[in-house]
Amino acid sequence: MAEQKATNVTWHAGSVTREERQILLNQKGVTVWMTGLSASGKSTIAVILEQMLLHKKKHAYRLDGDNIRMGLNKNLGFSAEDRAENIRRIGEVAKLFTDAGVVTICSFISPYRKDRDLVRASSKPGEFIEVYVKVSLDAAEKRDPKGLYKKARAAVAAGKGMGFTGVDDPYEAPEKPEMVIDTEAGTPESAALEILAHLESGGYLTS
Ligand code: ADP
Repeated sequence: MAEQKATNVTWHAGSVTREERQILLNQKGVTVWMTGLSASGKSTIAVILEQMLLHKKKHAYRLDGDNIRMGLNKNLGFSAEDRAENIRRIGEVAKLFTDAGVVTICSFISPYRKDRDLVRASSKPGEFIEVYVKVSLDAAEKRDPKGLYKKARAAVAAGKGMGFTGVDDPYEAPEKPEMVIDTEAGTPESAALEILAHLESGGYLTS
C-alpha cells in the first residue's frame, strides 16, 4: 500500500452523479482486468474487444502492459516490488477511467494474486471483472510471438535468469475470477465475444 504523503487533501466531488452519468452515457464504467501468462492472448483479445465495443458506440479504452511501461511506469522494472507498484498505479488509472464511465480493458500479466486483489478490493462493487486468460505454459512457449520465452530460457541456461513469469518467476492464477477463457479451446474472436456477452448480460451496456 502506498503511503499518503500530502496532507490537507480532500476529495472534491462533481455535480454529476454516478447514476446520471450512466444514463447520459448509456453505459456503466467497468474495469475488465485480463490476467494470464505472457502470450496467453490478453492483448490480442483486448484489441478485438475494444473494437467490438466502439462499433456498438460504447466508449472503451485499453490499458496495456508495454504501453504503460513506456510512459507512466517507465521508471519501474520487474522486481516483485516494482511489479506491485506497476499494478497499483494501473489500478488507480483504471479506477479513474471506470469512474469516467469507460469500459476499461486492462491487459497485464499481473502475476501476483495479492496485487490483483488489492485493485479489486479498492474498486466499487461490480466494477472489477477479473478475466483469467488461460493457456498452458507449453502452449504459450510455442506461440511466443515476441520471442520472450526463448530469451528467458536462454538467460536461465546461462545462469543469469530474467525473472520472467512462468519461467523463473511465478504466475498465481486467480482463485475466483468472474470469467475464465481457455484460449486453447477457442479463437481470439470467440473470447472477445464471450466478454462482450458478459458485459451485456451484466447490464454494463445499457440500451
Ligand atoms: P499477451 O498479451 O497475453 O502477452 P498476445 O496477445 O501478445 O499475448 O499474444 C498472443 C499470441 O497468441 C498472438 O500471436 C495470438 O495470435 C496467438 N493466439 C493463438 N490462439 C489464441 C487465442 N485463442 N486467443 C488469443 N490469442 C491467441
